[in-house]
This record gives sequence, C-alpha cells and structure tokens, in this order.
Amino acid sequence: MMTDTIAAISTPAGEGGIAVIRISGPDSVGIADRIFSYKGKLSDEPTHTVHYGHITHPSTGERIEEVLVTVMLAPRSFTTEDVVEISCHGGIISVKKVLDLVLEQGIRLAEPGEFTKRAFLNGRIDLAQAEAVIDLIRAKSDRAFKIALKQVEGSLSKQVKQLRHRLVELMAHIEVNIDYPEHDVEELTNAYIRDKCSAAIDELEKLLVTAEQGKILREGIVTAIVGRPNVGKSSLLNALAQDNKAIVTDIPGTTRDVIEEYVNLNGIPLKLLDTAGLRETEDVVERIGVERSRTALTDADLIVLVLNWNEPLHEDEKRLIEDVRDRQTVVVLNKTDLPQRTDVSYIERRFPAERIVRMSVKEQEGIETLGRAIGELFFGGQLETNDMTYVSNVRHIHLLKRAKSALEEAYRAADERVPIDMIQIDIRSSWEHLGELVGDAVGESLIDQIFSQFCLGK
Ligand code: GDP
Ligand code: ZN
Repeated sequence: MMTDTIAAISTPAGEGGIAVIRISGPDSVGIADRIFSYKGKLSDEPTHTVHYGHITHPSTGERIEEVLVTVMLAPRSFTTEDVVEISCHGGIISVKKVLDLVLEQGIRLAEPGEFTKRAFLNGRIDLAQAEAVIDLIRAKSDRAFKIALKQVEGSLSKQVKQLRHRLVELMAHIEVNIDYPEHDVEELTNAYIRDKCSAAIDELEKLLVTAEQGKILREGIVTAIVGRPNVGKSSLLNALAQDNKAIVTDIPGTTRDVIEEYVNLNGIPLKLLDTAGLRETEDVVERIGVERSRTALTDADLIVLVLNWNEPLHEDEKRLIEDVRDRQTVVVLNKTDLPQRTDVSYIERRFPAERIVRMSVKEQEGIETLGRAIGELFFGGQLETNDMTYVSNVRHIHLLKRAKSALEEAYRAADERVPIDMIQIDIRSSWEHLGELVGDAVGESLIDQIFSQFCLGK
C-alpha cells in the first residue's frame, strides 16, 4: 500500500501566471502547516477551503512566497487522500524554492503520473479513465480534448462494463445449460449464443470504427504541404500557424526531444511535417525542392498540393499530380486574386471537385474551405457527432480487437456446434480482454508502464 506523502509541481513547466504544487498523502496537511504561515492552522480547517498567506522557512522565518493554499481532505480529493495545493504567484524559480522546502520536510517527489496512479489504485477512476487523463494533457485540439474528457468521465468505461456484464450473463446462461444438456436445450443455446455474440460484436465494431478517427484527432493528421517553389506554401503554412494555433503546442515534462508544432484547422489537428524548421527557416519544403518533397509524401496521411492559379502547370507538377492522385490529397489553387493561367480542367479531370480548393492566401480566402475539404476527407463530414464515444488509445483499440475476435470465434463455434464448454472459453477470453481495458486484473508492470507516460505532477 502506498501510504507515504508525495509532492510535485502540477502546472506545466515554463512561464505562467501561477504555478501549483500538489501534495498528497497522510502528512500533507501537517507538513503544509509547518511552512505556511497565516492567521489560522490548516489542520483545523474544513475540507475544500482556500487560505491566503505566506510560505515561510520554518527555522529562519524567511518569507519565500505569497500563496493560496487549498485543503481537500480524504476521501473527497482526486487521489482520495488528503491533498494540499499551494498556488504560487511568482515565476518558476520561486515555485522551485517552495517545492524544495516542501521536500525538505521529508516528503518524496512524486513520480510522473503518480497522483493519477493513486486515484486509480484507490478506486477513484478506472484504467481507461486514467489513460484519458494522459490524453487530456496531450490533447491537440478542442475535439481531441472533448473526447478525452468524455473518457475521463467514463463513457468508454461505461460501455465496456455494460458489455462485460452482458457477457457474464451469457456465460451464466451457458453454465446452466451445460448442467442440463438435453438436446433441444442445446439447440436453443446455440442460437442464443450466436445472437448475443453478434450483438456484442456489433457494438465492439462500432467502437472500433471511431478508433481511427479518434487516433487522428488525438495525434493529428500528418500533413505534407508540397508544390513548386513560389506557389505559396510558406504563406499557407504561416497563415495556418498564425490563426489556428493548437491549444497545446508543447508537452511539458515528457521525454520527447522535439517539440512538435500542431495546427488546429476548424478543430482538426494537423501535424505539419518538418515543422521544426517552420519558425526558423522560411520554408522547409521549398528548400528541399520537389524531389525531396516526394519522399516526404510517403509518410503523410494528408497531402496538400499547392499549385499556382496564376501560372500554367509545369511538367514536374504534372508528375507530382500523378504521385498524389491516389492518396488523401487536397489540391490548393493559390493566388486566385491574380488572373487564371493554370489549366483547371486538367486538374478537375484528376481530382473530385470537393478536393480542389481555390484560395488566395494573400486575401485570406479559402482557408476555411480547405478545413472543410479535409474534414470531409477524413471524417466524411461526421466530425460533429458529439455524443459518439471515441476510442483513441492504442491499447484500448488492441484490446477491443482481441475481445471482438474472441467473440467471433465463439460465434463460429456455436454455428458449428462445437461443445458448449469450449465456446465458453472464447467468451471468457473476450470478457477478460475487456476487463484489461478498464483495469480489472492488470499486472503491476502494465500499470507502471501506463502511468510512467504521464507528466510530472499529474
Ligand atoms: P513557396 O515558395 O511555395 O513557399 O511560396 P511563398 O509562400 O514563399 O510565396 C511566394 C510568393 O507568392 C510570395 O511573394 C508571396 O507573397 C506570394 N503569394 C503567396 N500567396 C499569394 C496569394 O494568394 N496571392 C498573391 N498574389 N501572392 C501570393
Ligand atoms: Zn516558401
């Protein structure tokens, strides 16, 4: 059992108005009392109250920070333990000073994800919800954020638990019939099993259909903007980056070397290829030229091919068109503020109309249309269905697939009149996979693995 007290900075690293230090565990209130001076005593305060005062060094009396301290007593806190949160107003250095002082009092620095892990181990949230907390931290767009939020609230967990419950009922039903194996009962049971299995399979399928979309929303559509020099690729990149900043642009506390830049276009997160150079150099794509951009193409989910409305098509553009025709491509005809000189019908013969976007980056026209075209391409216009439960976590997808194939096995077996206790094994295996998804019977190491993905302080 984890009964020690842990602390960490819970707000993202970097410049911010305030920073919060979170302390959780049995000693949190007592220790906060030692270093926090104000008119009262924290251990006398009721739960869920906020107090103004100063962090003061207990031996020297030195005032370190002006703070607000929040007390949340067990079990009504995120971890279900006694939690104290210290909100500091100064920059990162004074926060660090307060944290050092807290740790000097004999508290351990929390491991990444340890607060959430405690919430899970103490039964406050299940595993799918805990993982959704990771997603929340990393969400690249409003929509990804909403999906993750729904998972934190437990909508996926709820569906999975209901499914599991129905599988248990099915297993119980089968169990009864194993004990009374008269012929007609068996007939009935086979039909019953097939019915129940196919209903459950349908449901799993529905969840899985959303998986690819959820993944895209979570991780961003890997996008390559390609085209000849001077068609307006940089201008488009800049226009996208300026007006459509992702709500989270960097990921504090994680181990990634590269901070990825995301662009949020009408709620669709785009992960621009080679965006590391986006800020420093004018344009990566142009520097590496058409030949190199053809290799960038292979990695992309989405290709935005920019052509100049004001110029006839070049030979290498025609080759590029052949390369991207069969891919998820949107063609941008840029510079429509200038006279038309390109062969639009040549392009229209090769791409459906809804994939061709006329644009003037200069006049800021057509960017929204581009967003709609991409939304149509990846979500078939389905993006607005708010009450869908998205499955966006790779581990969840994997488990749902295994649960589904076990049920398909059971279905086939029932169809072929395999002995019922054999069918029972498949159903049970499906039930177990779903159990793993919500965190029943997960091995210690998996739990550690999952929670180690968290940022410090979460
Ligand atoms: P890149 O080489 O493809 O990255 O093209 P740039 O973004 O550097 O743009 C090349 C030139 O075209 C610059 O002078 C831009 O100002 C200009 N340009 C970009 N978009 C438009 C547009 O929509 N209309 C007009 N008239 N000029 C544009
Ligand atoms: Zn450029």
